[in-house]
Amino acid sequence: MAMAPPRASSLPVFSRRGPFHIRRATPLGSVLLRRHLSTGVDEGGGLGSSSKRRARGPVMAAKKAAEGGKQEEGKYKHTVDLPKTTFGLRANSVVREPEIQKLWEENQVLKRVVEKNTGGSFVLHDGPPYANGNLHMGHALNKILKDIINRYKLLQNYKVSFIPGWDCHGLPIELKVLQSIDKDARKELTPLKLREKAAKFAKETVNIQMKSFKRYGVWADWDNPYLTLAPEYEAAQIEVFGQMAMRGYIYRGRKPVHWSPSSRTALAEAELEYPEGHVSKSIYAIFKIVSPPPASNGLLEEFFPDICLAIWTTTPWTIPANAAVAVNSGLEYVVAELHASVEDTLATSGGKQIKRGNALKVGENKLFVIVASELVSRLESKWGVKLSIRKTFPGSALENCRYTHPVNGNECPVVLGGDYITTESGTGLVHTAPGHGQEDYVTGLKYGLPIISPVDDEGKFTEEARKFSGLDVLGAGNSAVVDHLDKHLSLLVEEPYKHKYPYDWRTKKPTIFRATEQWFASVDGFRQAAMDAIGKVNWIPPQAENRIIAMTCSRSDWCISRQRTWGVPIPVFYHVHTKEPLMTEETIEHIRNIVADKGTDAWWYLPTEELLPQKYHDVASDYQKGTDTMDVWFDSGSSWAAVLTKNEGLSFPADIYLEGTDQHRGWFQSSLLTSIATTGKAPYSSVITHGFVLDEKGLKMSKSLGNVVDPDIVINGGKNTKDEPGYGADVLRLWVSSVDYSGDVLIGPQVLRQMSDMYRKLRGTLRFLLSNLHDWKPEYALLYKDLPKIDKYALFQLENVVNSIKDSYENYQFYKIFQMIQRFAVVDLSNFYFDVAKDRLYVGGTVSFTRRSCQTVLAAHLLSIVRVIAPILPHMAEDVWQNLPFEYVMEDGLVPKFVFELKWPSLKGDWLAMEADDVDFWNTILELRSEVNKVLENARIGKLIGSSLEAKVILHAADGATLTKLREMCSATNDADALHRIFITSQVETVNSLSDEFLSTVPYTGKYTSQRTSEVWVGVTHADGAKCERCWNYSPQVGSFVDHPTLCARCYGVVDVQPLPAAAGVC
Ligand SMILES: [Zn+2]
Repeated sequence: MAMAPPRASSLPVFSRRGPFHIRRATPLGSVLLRRHLSTGVDEGGGLGSSSKRRARGPVMAAKKAAEGGKQEEGKYKHTVDLPKTTFGLRANSVVREPEIQKLWEENQVLKRVVEKNTGGSFVLHDGPPYANGNLHMGHALNKILKDIINRYKLLQNYKVSFIPGWDCHGLPIELKVLQSIDKDARKELTPLKLREKAAKFAKETVNIQMKSFKRYGVWADWDNPYLTLAPEYEAAQIEVFGQMAMRGYIYRGRKPVHWSPSSRTALAEAELEYPEGHVSKSIYAIFKIVSPPPASNGLLEEFFPDICLAIWTTTPWTIPANAAVAVNSGLEYVVAELHASVEDTLATSGGKQIKRGNALKVGENKLFVIVASELVSRLESKWGVKLSIRKTFPGSALENCRYTHPVNGNECPVVLGGDYITTESGTGLVHTAPGHGQEDYVTGLKYGLPIISPVDDEGKFTEEARKFSGLDVLGAGNSAVVDHLDKHLSLLVEEPYKHKYPYDWRTKKPTIFRATEQWFASVDGFRQAAMDAIGKVNWIPPQAENRIIAMTCSRSDWCISRQRTWGVPIPVFYHVHTKEPLMTEETIEHIRNIVADKGTDAWWYLPTEELLPQKYHDVASDYQKGTDTMDVWFDSGSSWAAVLTKNEGLSFPADIYLEGTDQHRGWFQSSLLTSIATTGKAPYSSVITHGFVLDEKGLKMSKSLGNVVDPDIVINGGKNTKDEPGYGADVLRLWVSSVDYSGDVLIGPQVLRQMSDMYRKLRGTLRFLLSNLHDWKPEYALLYKDLPKIDKYALFQLENVVNSIKDSYENYQFYKIFQMIQRFAVVDLSNFYFDVAKDRLYVGGTVSFTRRSCQTVLAAHLLSIVRVIAPILPHMAEDVWQNLPFEYVMEDGLVPKFVFELKWPSLKGDWLAMEADDVDFWNTILELRSEVNKVLENARIGKLIGSSLEAKVILHAADGATLTKLREMCSATNDADALHRIFITSQVETVNSLSDEFLSTVPYTGKYTSQRTSEVWVGVTHADGAKCERCWNYSPQVGSFVDHPTLCARCYGVVDVQPLPAAAGVC
């Protein structure tokens, strides 16, 4: 390699956008340069300048000439083909990317490309982010992944349609509105005023978020997004609701639901969170048995009247609603006599916070308790008592035994519950309150138990709870119940209990289970169809299928009503007197039409008469409209109906849904349920899920930890640009491509620096390609069959990489693409092909075969690399395209003005057809080259040589065939294949034998061994002849040309009008 990285100051032509450097990647193949790299001066923020020592030759001569130095040295300046390009080394992304985005927008590039594409449609259906607050890194990961897929599909000739969406209704926005106004104003706030403010807030947020998404470089139909507050969307949602209702899947019922006293509304599973560290007050209590099981033949008779059922609960406030005690018919139970004499045991049982109840302090009275036999010893230590077993029997024997309710004194039954009754905790007997628990509710249905729920919307006991009335069930009410039990000798032990407990995800306060009148979607009605559909969807990663199966097969009916204002109304009327709901195909259709025209506000401002169809007008005064709104998951879960089936160019089902893994119980599921219930089909063919974004240490991002990475700051930079430089969107996108998103992903300052470094290196690779094609025209391209072997090998490598990258795009494994680009475009190319090519490109002769051949290969690389990186790094790819130094005409005769007008590179079968033996041989040469570089490095350290061009390499192989091949390569027909060019030395020779005498003349040696070939001996001596002024190669022929006494034969041929025969190369 003769050419040096020219200094910026020497070549103003390069500095339009920053100094130019030919950058050298990790110097794998150029061990020679290592010392310079490690200590070297980085002259321009590139990969490190290559070698100062190499940075001379013709370029220095040119520089000196330009500065008016010794004319002699600049004599051949004009014969050297230095790289030139307008493509900046520095991306300056903060400025340049918005320019590129403007270019796309002004030219409607997305539309152009979609219109020109002739393939089928491709629909990735956007899951709507919530229109509340700023975007975080999770949003960025999500939308950029979608954009990478969409852009790849554009290159694959698909008509891509991507409609971005926003979820606009719901409590968080309603709360924001309420918080923004004072108390007096709140009293004045009518539902319509609230809705007006909420809509304004949502629309403003949509605009802010949209701006950020656009800045990420995400391509979408930004002028026509779908908003769940749009009248046509709301109408489609009501249509879905109506279809479900007409199929009998919507019902009103009194059922326990998750209820948030702090929000005063029912909540769906997806609106709950389970924070760490929740502690409940748990109690062991006893309920006195009054009559034994009817068919038990005196099973418990001997223990009367001192026999009790022992239960355990973490929600003592539900005891007033107790309706039964459930046992598992399959478990074994015992009657145990309780000896409460061991006063001190509790202190030693580790439970400092355990409080013993009065029931344990009864003195000499006998007490028998029924518990599961497996739990006896655990309960002994927990209660600090001795339990002597008196009788054993199966749970089934206890059915219909009766006990006295500890609060109201009623007689209640023992019932057989299901498998949910275990011996993992508690006593094996379950306090059953059907108004406050899902399993209790199911057991209650089986036995016809009353559904008692004496708790109001605020979480306070109602009159029905008598003495507890008005008390907060999560506070004073809970304690009052425990006190009551203790006073009546029903409390054995009270202790704090740490467990997972559902909280309202918005207010961060605990919820309760409470039976209320709600609207439900009956999942049982279409569960099997949903399960069948799940099996037909392509889940990526595959384990996601198990998650959605688990969540769908076990889920209870979907409570879809909310007692809030900012949402889509449940289109129902109630009879004023009978309270019977009125909801027919006709009424729903009528409301749908009104909503399509006026939006759902009409539900609040139109009189009931107008909301009802004509035929009800006479009886309209008998009805009032409902006040419930729909669960927002019903809103977003209807998007397939509102978007996919209502827009031209879209199709149902969508090709892909892509969201975070939490959506298995959220949007993936709600969309599945509404779609199955109304169409019998899943709304998606494939579902891709990604994990959460964590900080570099794997911790959740939080303001208090100070580890939040804000995508806008990553792109534009923070206040202190030294700590928080603006990396631009492409660096953020490169990060998205680099992570295995199927699990949680990490980001932080260090990761971003690595990404930025990789980005710069890739930019350097592209700049090398562009700058060495400055005088290129596609018609100069040589035929493949005429190319030197090294060039065929380079194309073979390129085509393999392009194909592998395509496979990884097809499988959505972008991190593999990142790795391939890093290895190939950043490391391998720089270390070998580019390194070797510089000689040909700079001093090979402008129109020479060897330079044109190399440019043929470089052009192929540029045209492929720019396309394969474009989905991930669209700005950089477009920047390259806009700086393309030649006109590229596609097969159809069109000249693509923008990079996405190019299609994916077509398959080059001949490039791949390289024979296995040849591939093997090149792999051997590359390995041998590494060994040669090691010896050269030693020679350089020993000061035998400076630059590698001062060296001659001598090779010997014991195996004749290998030796012959090496010898052939020393005098290759194509100069580019000659070994000394590949090793970047002035000469390479082979010797037939290694005599001691000969060995003594070779100061530096090494050995290359591999399984492919016999051992190859490597020697390095100083090169023969003198240094050529133009290319710095050494040659005995320097001095032999009278008119150009300082040139080698090759250079003489280049500068002289009459080129010398090709064989004149030195070897
Ligand atoms: Zn020369």
